[in-house]
Amino acid sequence: MTEPCIITVAITGALPTKEVTPAVPVTPEEQIESTQEAFEAGASLVHIHVRNNDQTPGSDPDKFRAVQEGVAKHCPGMIIQFSTGGRGRNPEERGAMLLHRPDMASLATGSVNFPKGIYENPPDFVDSLASRMLEFDIKPEVEVFDVAMLYNAANLVKKGLLKEPVHLQFVLGIPNALPARRQLLEFLIKESKEVLPGSTWTAAGIARYQFEVNQWCLELGGHCRTGLEDNVKFDSDRLAVSNAELVKKIVDVADDFGRRPATPAEAREILGLAPAA
Ligand code: MG
Repeated sequence: MTEPCIITVAITGALPTKEVTPAVPVTPEEQIESTQEAFEAGASLVHIHVRNNDQTPGSDPDKFRAVQEGVAKHCPGMIIQFSTGGRGRNPEERGAMLLHRPDMASLATGSVNFPKGIYENPPDFVDSLASRMLEFDIKPEVEVFDVAMLYNAANLVKKGLLKEPVHLQFVLGIPNALPARRQLLEFLIKESKEVLPGSTWTAAGIARYQFEVNQWCLELGGHCRTGLEDNVKFDSDRLAVSNAELVKKIVDVADDFGRRPATPAEAREILGLAPAA
């Protein structure tokens, strides 16, 4: 018996990658099309950032809504996750689109250095985003960019701001943050089982670590995240042609680890989400 693995596709991201490769989908139409290809390749969860018309990171709730509607229409049952990530956005804008009630939204539970600055998530701000997700019945994906964020998530549970079971994502390989080391991932998994019993987890490897981390996740019983947000140059010698191609790389090796891509219905059950409407 193979175990289902939820494959997340992070289709766009916040960095101006269109200048690196035209494969990054930027308009809602491009994003919906790229998501559908990735869905058909085996992804069951999509992580969404939107862009402004000048390619800078966007906050426009209408654009989030447009992508949400298109994905719901063309990718039946796929889990829709909005990013509340900070790069280039004002704090008050970061939760503005949550009123559209996506299935999930990302929630970083602390601050960390990124390659060129601070990813700022002060305690009061984390609490307010978590409260807003509770209000709209949105399941957070807790983004663990540094070790303290795991324990901060456990504290949010104690404060009643985060419901169990918690879904965690360990982000490995961002310069100045957590390195992509297998021992570190194993430590985080072990700790998460103690401080957040019943939690589910995935990990994201950034850039050249992406596929290696995907394989650790398959082997260690976690879920996987891929996509052009994390990795524009997916091989050393050529650019990724699409998000779907990155998803297919995981699907192609899953069986070697006794895993298979989760269907959307399975993914919803694993994460405790309601069946798609
Ligand atoms: Mg993101």
